[in-house]
Amino acid sequence: MPDNKAMTEPQKALLKLGLARDIDLALHIPLRYEDETRIVMLRDAREGDTVQIEATVTDTQVQYRPRRQLVVTVDDGSDSCVLRFFSFYPSQQKALSEGARLRIRGELKGGFLGWSMVHPTYRVAGGELPQALTPVYSTVAGLPQPYLRKAVAGGLERADLAETIPADAPPAPGQAGAWSLRQALQFLHHPTPEASIAALEDRSHPAWQRLKAEELLAQQLSQQQTRRAHDALSAPTLVGRPGGLHEQLLAALPFQLTKAQRRVSEEIAVGLARARPMHRLLQGDVGSGKTIVAALAAAIAIDCGWQCALMAPTEILAEQHFRKLIGWLEPLLAPRGLRVAWLTGSQKKKERAEMLELVASGEAALVIGTHAVIQEQVQFRNLALAIIDEQHRFGVEQRLALRGKVHGDGEPHLLMMSATPIPRTLAMSYYADLDVSTIDELPPGRTPVVTKLISESRRDEVVERIRSQVGEGRQVYWVCPLIEESETLDLTNATETHMALSEALPGVMVGLLHSRMPVPEKKAVMTLFTAGQMAVLVSTTVIEVGVDVPNASLMVIEHAERFGLSQLHQLRGRVGRGAAASACVLLYSAGDNGRLSETARSRLKAMAETSDGFEIARRDLEIRGPGEFLGARQSGAPLLRFADLVTDTALLEWAREVAPLMLDKHPGLAERHVGRWLGGRSEYLKV
Ligand code: ADP
Ligand code: MG
Repeated sequence: MPDNKAMTEPQKALLKLGLARDIDLALHIPLRYEDETRIVMLRDAREGDTVQIEATVTDTQVQYRPRRQLVVTVDDGSDSCVLRFFSFYPSQQKALSEGARLRIRGELKGGFLGWSMVHPTYRVAGGELPQALTPVYSTVAGLPQPYLRKAVAGGLERADLAETIPADAPPAPGQAGAWSLRQALQFLHHPTPEASIAALEDRSHPAWQRLKAEELLAQQLSQQQTRRAHDALSAPTLVGRPGGLHEQLLAALPFQLTKAQRRVSEEIAVGLARARPMHRLLQGDVGSGKTIVAALAAAIAIDCGWQCALMAPTEILAEQHFRKLIGWLEPLLAPRGLRVAWLTGSQKKKERAEMLELVASGEAALVIGTHAVIQEQVQFRNLALAIIDEQHRFGVEQRLALRGKVHGDGEPHLLMMSATPIPRTLAMSYYADLDVSTIDELPPGRTPVVTKLISESRRDEVVERIRSQVGEGRQVYWVCPLIEESETLDLTNATETHMALSEALPGVMVGLLHSRMPVPEKKAVMTLFTAGQMAVLVSTTVIEVGVDVPNASLMVIEHAERFGLSQLHQLRGRVGRGAAASACVLLYSAGDNGRLSETARSRLKAMAETSDGFEIARRDLEIRGPGEFLGARQSGAPLLRFADLVTDTALLEWAREVAPLMLDKHPGLAERHVGRWLGGRSEYLKV
């Protein structure tokens, strides 16, 4: 690669686009195409068509009304057309003077006065017509299309496009198998004019199918390779003894596990009993009871004489886990001389030192906390199981750090929990390196939450409703949106709502909770609310995760149109935890133009129509696409550029089947394939 200073402007721009290798250029597929292969007669054209005509200028003049413009009339023998240029140079005026014969390309507008085009491109008429459609590539400043076209054509020529899919692999579904990679790419860059532009643009064309099959295969290979690498590592074998800690915990619970909880607990137990590290995602809707499942897994590890760590993304959530697990486990641990330790950023120095000591000595069998758990000073004596709650809120590095908390060459088992169920296709592609356990059932006795969409203009009615709920001894959450651009604005909003509600509800304790509050103050507010003394809690999204107050039966979400679908669902999961009928009010306000955006509308609609977390996740994926859906896990990792997990499931199934065959029988081809598609990036996918 030339050094940076010697590079020309377009060369730098190419790098900026990530087009470093020949193969990268070859895989830079056009955004769209222009058909310059044909000259159209105006007589045959339709309104809105982008056409190429050859015509003679019959009149040129500068007009000043309604604004200065160059108006050129041309005639192609079948009809005439007016070309308008709002900015122009004298040289253009000259090229467009009467009698000039031109090849003109632009979008045709019809109208009372006949055909017109605004700022068409043009050149002197005549010359050969191209044989293929002209590709238009996505580009950046300083990289003109003609330069980019040349660079891509060169890359395509030079790139190693030898087949990597072995002959003994099952054929790719549909027409995908009929094309070689080289044919497919050549076609996608320079399609013949007969090709359906629609099929090219909606990516249903067989050449596209072929490309997507390749891409999905690379992703599967990379993920399955990672999984095999995990499987080659060793981890402590953890088997719960009959009558051991986990059985004692089960016996002490005030409820029976649901069938789903029993099943996933069994799946986890099987994973822990193996001598290689478990990497498991435990997914279950909000309120499905993941915490006890995690506690049972912890009990097995502790019973075998090892330590377990539980990490949660926020202090409030971590503390709630801490209380719950202490309640469950401490009576059972104390007789064994074991304790539960608590680690968080806001801790006093002295307390922290004590806790670190407990962790290092192994006296703390269970360590619960926030990110503080993975800090450098934290030394475990023998960590065997790491549990991460709300795993999507942590980055890859943080999860790696937790895994690294082990001495010697063993690895801890890893249990990640998520309340955002991952749609099947996503799990199959981005989480192919994980085992997935799913709790698909809520504990009995929950009443479904009724969801209502109410316009901001009817806010008063909502306040009335709060009054009556509180009158019945119930509690209410009022959530204000996080305004990303302005934390201050966000605060003002919550503070104002807090004041307005306090005023409207005399004699009712209304609390305020927001992310900028000092931790002790946050805790004090949460304690009052959890204890039932505070009836209404106004908050920013800090309550988003995990808070569990069964007496809360109404949730109001202000500016619901600003929240993401999964987030709304998570929030709604805070109510309906007890036996009382619960409701969620989505207060929305239309923007300045008086209308909700299309996506906001479909989100709110989905919320009103279903409370099934999997259905919500599926719709969320449709609305947002996988990139945003996956969030932190994929930061830096290659997302699919070509395949679409909503529509390309058949190709994904195929790739899943072919990948192990390649890894087993054709490791050389597998390596070439992954290298071609992911370059150095596949490293990021690990964990
Ligand atoms: P989440 O999956 O959202 O983390 P939690 O673990 O916080 O859910 O559980 C929600 C509530 O349900 C808690 O109060 C928990 O004690 C309770 N719970 C869990 N499992 C059961 C069960 N099988 N029967 C009754 N209540 C349960
Ligand atoms: Mg939870």
